[in-house]
Amino acid sequence: MKKVVILTTGGTIAMVKKGESVVPYEKGNMLISEIPDLEKIKDAKIEVVEFSNIPSPHMTPNDMWKLSKTINRILEDEDVLGIVVTHGTDTLEETSYLLDLTLKSEKPVVCTAAMRNIGELGTDGPRNVYSSVLTVLSPQSYGMGVMVCLNDEIHAAREVTKTYTSNVATFDSPGYGPLGIVDEDTVIFFRKSLTREKILVERIEEKIALIKTFTGDQGDFLKLAVKLGYKGIVLEGFGRGNVPHLVADAVEEVVKSGIPVVVTSRCFKGRVYPVYGYKGGGADLRKRGAIMSEHPIGQKAKIKLMVVMGKTSKIEEIRKYFEKDIKRRPKENE
Ligand code: ASP
Repeated sequence: MKKVVILTTGGTIAMVKKGESVVPYEKGNMLISEIPDLEKIKDAKIEVVEFSNIPSPHMTPNDMWKLSKTINRILEDEDVLGIVVTHGTDTLEETSYLLDLTLKSEKPVVCTAAMRNIGELGTDGPRNVYSSVLTVLSPQSYGMGVMVCLNDEIHAAREVTKTYTSNVATFDSPGYGPLGIVDEDTVIFFRKSLTREKILVERIEEKIALIKTFTGDQGDFLKLAVKLGYKGIVLEGFGRGNVPHLVADAVEEVVKSGIPVVVTSRCFKGRVYPVYGYKGGGADLRKRGAIMSEHPIGQKAKIKLMVVMGKTSKIEEIRKYFEKDIKRRPKENE
Protein backbone atom coordinates (compact mmCIF):
# COMPACT_ATOMS: atom_id res chain seq x y z
CA MET A 1 0.00 0.00 0.00
CA LYS A 2 1.20 3.53 -0.78
CA LYS A 3 1.97 5.76 2.16
CA VAL A 4 2.00 9.30 3.47
CA VAL A 5 4.93 10.08 5.75
CA ILE A 6 4.39 12.53 8.61
CA LEU A 7 7.78 14.00 9.41
CA THR A 8 7.76 15.71 12.79
CA THR A 9 10.09 18.53 13.85
CA GLY A 10 8.46 19.79 17.07
CA GLY A 11 6.58 23.02 17.81
CA THR A 12 3.47 23.62 19.92
CA ILE A 13 1.81 20.67 18.18
CA ALA A 14 4.22 18.50 20.24
CA MET A 15 4.14 20.59 23.44
CA VAL A 16 2.23 20.48 26.73
CA LYS A 17 1.64 22.87 29.59
CA LYS A 18 3.78 22.26 32.65
CA GLY A 19 3.07 24.61 35.52
CA GLU A 20 2.69 28.07 34.06
CA SER A 21 4.42 27.57 30.72
CA VAL A 22 4.23 25.49 27.57
CA VAL A 23 7.23 23.24 26.87
CA PRO A 24 8.26 20.48 24.42
CA TYR A 25 6.91 17.04 25.36
CA GLU A 26 9.28 14.19 24.57
CA LYS A 27 6.45 11.93 23.36
CA GLY A 28 4.61 14.81 21.64
CA ASN A 29 5.61 13.99 18.08
CA MET A 30 4.64 10.34 18.39
CA LEU A 31 1.16 11.21 19.68
CA ILE A 32 0.46 12.36 16.14
CA SER A 33 0.15 8.73 15.04
CA GLU A 34 -2.68 8.37 17.55
CA ILE A 35 -4.94 11.04 16.06
CA PRO A 36 -8.23 9.06 15.76
CA ASP A 37 -9.36 10.71 12.51
CA LEU A 38 -6.32 9.38 10.68
CA GLU A 39 -7.96 5.95 10.91
CA LYS A 40 -10.59 7.20 8.44
CA ILE A 41 -7.90 7.35 5.76
CA LYS A 42 -8.12 4.15 3.75
CA ASP A 43 -6.22 5.12 0.57
CA ALA A 44 -2.79 5.17 2.18
CA LYS A 45 -0.80 4.03 5.16
CA ILE A 46 0.35 6.73 7.57
CA GLU A 47 3.91 6.54 8.82
CA VAL A 48 5.21 8.94 11.47
CA VAL A 49 8.95 9.67 11.46
CA GLU A 50 10.56 11.96 14.02
CA PHE A 51 13.09 14.40 12.55
CA SER A 52 13.51 16.55 15.67
CA ASN A 53 11.52 17.85 18.62
CA ILE A 54 12.43 21.52 18.88
CA PRO A 55 10.56 24.81 19.18
CA SER A 56 10.70 26.44 15.77
CA PRO A 57 12.60 29.57 16.92
CA HIS A 58 15.47 27.08 17.46
CA MET A 59 15.35 25.98 13.82
CA THR A 60 18.63 26.93 12.11
CA PRO A 61 19.36 27.27 8.40
CA ASN A 62 21.36 24.06 8.72
CA ASP A 63 18.36 22.22 10.25
CA MET A 64 16.17 23.42 7.38
CA TRP A 65 18.73 22.27 4.84
CA LYS A 66 19.01 18.85 6.53
CA LEU A 67 15.22 18.59 6.48
CA SER A 68 15.22 19.36 2.76
CA LYS A 69 17.76 16.61 2.11
CA THR A 70 15.80 14.15 4.27
CA ILE A 71 12.58 14.90 2.38
CA ASN A 72 14.33 14.56 -0.99
CA ARG A 73 15.49 11.13 0.11
CA ILE A 74 12.08 9.99 1.42
CA LEU A 75 10.30 11.16 -1.73
CA GLU A 76 12.55 8.98 -3.87
CA ASP A 77 10.64 5.98 -2.47
CA GLU A 78 8.00 5.10 -5.06
CA ASP A 79 5.58 4.04 -2.33
CA VAL A 80 5.58 7.50 -0.74
CA LEU A 81 2.78 9.65 -2.13
CA GLY A 82 3.78 12.76 -0.25
CA ILE A 83 4.82 14.19 3.08
CA VAL A 84 3.26 16.15 5.92
CA VAL A 85 5.79 18.14 7.96
CA THR A 86 4.77 19.18 11.49
CA HIS A 87 6.58 22.27 12.76
CA GLY A 88 6.24 25.25 15.09
CA THR A 89 4.23 28.12 13.65
CA ASP A 90 6.82 30.80 14.46
CA THR A 91 9.25 29.98 11.64
CA LEU A 92 7.08 27.69 9.55
CA GLU A 93 7.08 30.27 6.77
CA GLU A 94 10.87 30.12 6.56
CA THR A 95 11.24 26.33 6.58
CA SER A 96 8.38 25.73 4.16
CA TYR A 97 9.79 28.29 1.69
CA LEU A 98 13.26 26.77 1.83
CA LEU A 99 11.68 23.39 1.05
CA ASP A 100 9.65 24.92 -1.77
CA LEU A 101 12.78 26.31 -3.40
CA THR A 102 15.02 23.30 -2.93
CA LEU A 103 12.98 20.07 -3.15
CA LYS A 104 13.57 18.11 -6.32
CA SER A 105 10.30 16.19 -6.45
CA GLU A 106 6.90 17.61 -7.36
CA LYS A 107 5.14 15.19 -5.01
CA PRO A 108 3.00 17.06 -2.48
CA VAL A 109 4.65 18.32 0.70
CA VAL A 110 2.30 19.98 3.19
CA CYS A 111 3.57 21.72 6.31
CA THR A 112 1.36 22.10 9.34
CA ALA A 113 1.44 23.13 12.99
CA ALA A 114 -0.76 24.05 15.93
CA MET A 115 -1.42 27.27 17.78
CA ARG A 116 -2.79 25.41 20.81
CA ASN A 117 -0.77 22.78 22.64
CA ILE A 118 -1.72 19.13 23.14
CA GLY A 119 -3.88 19.46 26.28
CA GLU A 120 -5.33 22.89 25.53
CA LEU A 121 -9.05 23.46 25.09
CA GLY A 122 -9.89 23.42 21.38
CA THR A 123 -6.45 22.24 20.35
CA ASP A 124 -6.01 22.59 16.60
CA GLY A 125 -3.11 20.18 15.99
CA PRO A 126 -5.06 16.95 15.25
CA ARG A 127 -7.40 18.65 12.79
CA ASN A 128 -4.54 20.41 11.03
CA VAL A 129 -2.64 17.13 10.64
CA TYR A 130 -5.73 15.38 9.31
CA SER A 131 -6.45 18.20 6.82
CA SER A 132 -2.84 18.13 5.70
CA VAL A 133 -2.94 14.40 5.01
CA LEU A 134 -6.13 14.96 2.97
CA THR A 135 -4.32 17.71 1.07
CA VAL A 136 -1.39 15.39 0.26
CA LEU A 137 -3.88 12.82 -1.02
CA SER A 138 -5.75 15.27 -3.25
CA PRO A 139 -5.03 14.47 -6.92
CA GLN A 140 -4.62 18.21 -7.57
CA SER A 141 -1.79 18.63 -5.08
CA TYR A 142 0.94 17.22 -7.31
CA GLY A 143 3.01 20.11 -8.70
CA MET A 144 1.44 22.70 -6.38
CA GLY A 145 4.73 23.31 -4.57
CA VAL A 146 5.17 23.14 -0.83
CA MET A 147 1.97 24.13 0.96
CA VAL A 148 1.06 25.23 4.46
CA CYS A 149 -2.26 23.90 5.78
CA LEU A 150 -3.81 25.17 9.02
CA ASN A 151 -7.27 26.18 10.13
CA ASP A 152 -8.87 24.62 7.01
CA GLU A 153 -6.86 26.81 4.61
CA ILE A 154 -4.09 25.82 2.20
CA HIS A 155 -1.42 28.42 1.42
CA ALA A 156 1.60 28.53 -0.87
CA ALA A 157 4.87 28.39 1.08
CA ARG A 158 6.26 31.31 -0.92
CA GLU A 159 3.34 33.56 -0.01
CA VAL A 160 2.30 32.59 3.49
CA THR A 161 3.16 34.43 6.70
CA LYS A 162 2.17 34.24 10.36
CA THR A 163 0.02 37.27 11.07
CA TYR A 164 -1.40 36.79 14.56
CA THR A 165 0.55 35.95 17.74
CA SER A 166 -2.13 33.74 19.27
CA ASN A 167 -5.20 33.17 17.08
CA VAL A 168 -5.68 29.87 15.23
CA ALA A 169 -6.48 31.91 12.09
CA THR A 170 -2.91 33.15 12.00
CA PHE A 171 -1.62 32.11 8.57
CA ASP A 172 -2.41 34.34 5.66
CA SER A 173 -0.97 35.13 2.25
CA PRO A 174 -1.31 38.92 2.12
CA GLY A 175 -1.91 40.15 -1.39
CA TYR A 176 -2.53 36.61 -2.66
CA GLY A 177 -5.07 34.69 -0.54
CA PRO A 178 -5.14 30.93 0.04
CA LEU A 179 -4.60 28.35 -2.70
CA GLY A 180 -7.60 26.46 -1.42
CA ILE A 181 -9.52 25.12 1.54
CA VAL A 182 -10.31 21.84 3.29
CA ASP A 183 -14.04 21.66 3.89
CA GLU A 184 -15.93 18.62 5.24
CA ASP A 185 -13.10 16.25 4.26
CA THR A 186 -12.94 17.72 0.77
CA VAL A 187 -9.91 19.56 -0.55
CA ILE A 188 -10.83 22.37 -2.92
CA PHE A 189 -8.18 24.34 -4.79
CA PHE A 190 -8.98 27.79 -6.18
CA ARG A 191 -5.71 28.62 -7.89
CA LYS A 192 -2.01 27.83 -8.34
CA SER A 193 0.91 30.04 -7.34
CA LEU A 194 2.26 31.43 -10.62
CA THR A 195 5.30 33.08 -9.07
CA ARG A 196 6.67 29.88 -7.60
CA GLU A 197 10.23 28.90 -8.55
CA LYS A 198 12.75 26.17 -7.85
CA ILE A 199 16.42 26.83 -7.25
CA LEU A 200 18.14 23.47 -6.94
CA VAL A 201 21.45 23.76 -5.11
CA GLU A 202 24.14 21.55 -3.59
CA ARG A 203 24.57 23.79 -0.54
CA ILE A 204 23.12 26.91 1.05
CA GLU A 205 24.83 29.99 2.50
CA GLU A 206 23.89 30.11 6.18
CA LYS A 207 25.44 33.45 7.13
CA ILE A 208 22.74 35.79 5.87
CA ALA A 209 21.57 38.66 8.09
CA LEU A 210 18.13 40.24 8.10
CA ILE A 211 18.21 43.86 9.25
CA LYS A 212 15.17 46.08 9.69
CA THR A 213 15.71 49.77 9.19
CA PHE A 214 14.15 52.39 11.47
CA THR A 215 13.74 56.14 11.58
CA GLY A 216 17.08 57.59 12.60
CA ASP A 217 19.01 54.53 11.40
CA GLN A 218 22.59 55.51 10.48
CA GLY A 219 23.55 52.24 8.82
CA ASP A 220 25.64 50.97 11.76
CA PHE A 221 23.98 47.55 11.88
CA LEU A 222 24.59 47.00 8.19
CA LYS A 223 28.30 47.68 8.61
CA LEU A 224 28.42 45.60 11.77
CA ALA A 225 26.93 42.61 9.95
CA VAL A 226 29.87 42.69 7.52
CA LYS A 227 32.34 42.88 10.42
CA LEU A 228 30.62 39.87 12.00
CA GLY A 229 31.23 37.83 8.88
CA TYR A 230 27.78 37.79 7.26
CA LYS A 231 28.06 36.95 3.56
CA GLY A 232 24.83 38.57 2.46
CA ILE A 233 22.32 41.02 3.94
CA VAL A 234 18.60 41.47 3.52
CA LEU A 235 17.65 45.03 4.42
CA GLU A 236 14.01 45.56 5.33
CA GLY A 237 13.20 49.11 4.26
CA PHE A 238 10.04 51.20 4.21
CA GLY A 239 7.33 51.36 1.53
CA ARG A 240 8.64 50.71 -2.01
CA GLY A 241 12.07 49.85 -0.56
CA ASN A 242 13.38 53.13 0.86
CA VAL A 243 15.68 53.79 3.85
CA PRO A 244 16.96 56.83 5.80
CA HIS A 245 19.62 58.79 3.91
CA LEU A 246 22.63 57.73 6.00
CA VAL A 247 21.80 54.08 5.43
CA ALA A 248 22.34 54.70 1.70
CA ASP A 249 26.05 55.39 2.32
CA ALA A 250 26.33 52.20 4.34
CA VAL A 251 24.62 50.20 1.57
CA GLU A 252 27.13 51.55 -0.96
CA GLU A 253 30.07 50.73 1.30
CA VAL A 254 28.83 47.20 1.99
CA VAL A 255 28.14 46.46 -1.69
CA LYS A 256 31.59 47.79 -2.66
CA SER A 257 33.09 45.29 -0.23
CA GLY A 258 31.42 42.51 -2.26
CA ILE A 259 28.53 41.73 0.09
CA PRO A 260 25.09 41.70 -1.59
CA VAL A 261 22.35 43.84 -0.04
CA VAL A 262 18.80 42.78 -0.94
CA VAL A 263 16.16 45.42 -0.19
CA THR A 264 12.69 44.38 0.99
CA SER A 265 9.89 46.30 2.70
CA ARG A 266 8.12 46.37 6.02
CA CYS A 267 4.91 46.45 3.96
CA PHE A 268 3.95 42.87 3.27
CA LYS A 269 1.88 43.49 0.14
CA GLY A 270 2.94 44.77 -3.27
CA ARG A 271 6.29 45.05 -5.01
CA VAL A 272 9.54 46.58 -3.91
CA TYR A 273 10.47 48.83 -6.82
CA PRO A 274 13.13 51.46 -7.56
CA VAL A 275 10.81 54.47 -7.74
CA TYR A 276 12.40 57.13 -5.53
CA GLY A 277 15.63 58.82 -6.56
CA TYR A 278 16.27 60.82 -3.36
CA LYS A 279 19.15 59.70 -1.18
CA GLY A 280 18.05 56.40 0.37
CA GLY A 281 15.13 55.97 -2.03
CA GLY A 282 14.88 52.61 -3.84
CA ALA A 283 16.20 53.96 -7.18
CA ASP A 284 19.13 55.59 -5.38
CA LEU A 285 19.90 52.37 -3.46
CA ARG A 286 19.87 50.41 -6.68
CA LYS A 287 22.29 52.83 -8.31
CA ARG A 288 24.54 52.23 -5.32
CA GLY A 289 24.43 48.50 -6.09
CA ALA A 290 21.57 47.24 -3.92
CA ILE A 291 19.32 44.48 -5.25
CA MET A 292 15.54 44.95 -5.12
CA SER A 293 13.66 41.88 -3.87
CA GLU A 294 10.56 41.09 -5.88
CA HIS A 295 8.99 39.74 -2.67
CA PRO A 296 8.45 42.39 0.01
CA ILE A 297 8.65 40.09 3.07
CA GLY A 298 12.15 40.17 4.57
CA GLN A 299 12.18 36.66 6.00
CA LYS A 300 11.26 35.21 2.60
CA ALA A 301 14.03 37.15 0.86
CA LYS A 302 16.48 35.92 3.51
CA ILE A 303 15.65 32.29 2.72
CA LYS A 304 15.95 32.94 -1.00
CA LEU A 305 19.32 34.67 -0.58
CA MET A 306 20.56 31.70 1.47
CA VAL A 307 19.64 29.41 -1.41
CA VAL A 308 20.83 31.66 -4.26
CA MET A 309 24.17 32.20 -2.53
CA GLY A 310 24.56 28.43 -2.45
CA LYS A 311 24.99 28.85 -6.22
CA THR A 312 26.84 32.14 -6.57
CA SER A 313 28.25 35.02 -4.54
CA LYS A 314 28.53 37.36 -7.56
CA ILE A 315 26.24 40.32 -6.97
CA GLU A 316 25.12 40.72 -10.60
CA GLU A 317 24.34 36.99 -10.81
CA ILE A 318 22.34 37.17 -7.58
CA ARG A 319 20.45 40.20 -8.93
CA LYS A 320 19.03 38.08 -11.76
CA TYR A 321 17.21 35.87 -9.26
CA PHE A 322 15.59 38.78 -7.42
CA GLU A 323 14.84 41.36 -10.09
CA LYS A 324 13.09 39.25 -12.70
CA ASP A 325 10.25 41.73 -12.98
CA ILE A 326 12.20 44.96 -12.86
CA LYS A 327 12.38 46.26 -16.41
CA ARG A 328 13.80 49.66 -15.59
CA ARG A 329 17.58 49.53 -15.21
CA PRO A 330 19.35 52.53 -13.66
CA LYS A 331 21.11 54.56 -16.33
CA GLU A 332 24.29 56.54 -15.91
CA ASN A 333 23.47 59.96 -14.39
CA GLU A 334 19.79 59.06 -13.97
N1 ASP B 1 6.82 28.90 19.68
C1 ASP B 1 6.22 27.76 19.04
C2 ASP B 1 7.10 27.27 17.90
O1 ASP B 1 7.17 27.92 16.88
C3 ASP B 1 4.91 28.13 18.54
C4 ASP B 1 4.26 27.09 17.71
O2 ASP B 1 4.68 25.97 17.61
O3 ASP B 1 3.28 27.42 17.14
O4 ASP B 1 7.67 26.21 18.02
